[in-house]
Amino acid sequence: MADIDFTRAFRVLVGPEKQAFTVHHDIINRRSAFFRAASSERWTSVEKVIELPDDKSQVFARYLQCLYNNKTWFDDLSQPRGMTGEGDFDLRANRTILRLVHAYILADKLQDLKSCNLIIDRLIHDSDELQRIPNNYALNLIYNQTPKASPLRKLVVDFLVYEANAENDSYNMEDAPIEFLQEVIREDARLKNENARERVEDVFAQKVSELGKCRAHQHDASHAVCE
Ligand SMILES: [Zn+2]
Repeated sequence: MADIDFTRAFRVLVGPEKQAFTVHHDIINRRSAFFRAASSERWTSVEKVIELPDDKSQVFARYLQCLYNNKTWFDDLSQPRGMTGEGDFDLRANRTILRLVHAYILADKLQDLKSCNLIIDRLIHDSDELQRIPNNYALNLIYNQTPKASPLRKLVVDFLVYEANAENDSYNMEDAPIEFLQEVIREDARLKNENARERVEDVFAQKVSELGKCRAHQHDASHAVCE
């Protein structure tokens, strides 16, 4: 890969408060098709600024951690369960998952497939670790802000189909997006039909983390399938 030019940077103003971030042209443009497109036009003059008025500055800051640092661990849950009280753990676990969902939605909007895939991996990992699946609030966010074919939608459907149980039952079905419930029913029926002759129980005993690494990834000519 070609060397990174650290002398070329520009500013990104995020949110209604226009929080200013400095990003390196080479680093962000190699990953984000959105920034590649935005910086190809009109950018021969002096001051280069891109505005993201509808996004949150904290979310963009976490996206930059992912971009520069490959960091997707957005909370400190190193204290074991029970140390801080269950209620507190619940709150932090849900917040950790929600931060990942926000970061995914932004990375997807910026067309940064590598960050999307890293965040998906972290979501699956954290969900196992924390024994949490995205709650209703996260679900509504996902169904309001991602396109129909989004791999994140596929992932949350898988979470419910394979992993919903009394332990992690964070869904209040009354408030779940209708499209989500329809997809869950469709996927559930598909698995039962396709596996009629197998033992259906075995199919549903799988965890999402066992279903195959690329299941909710996005790959294309410049983003090779994972090993
Ligand atoms: Zn993959």
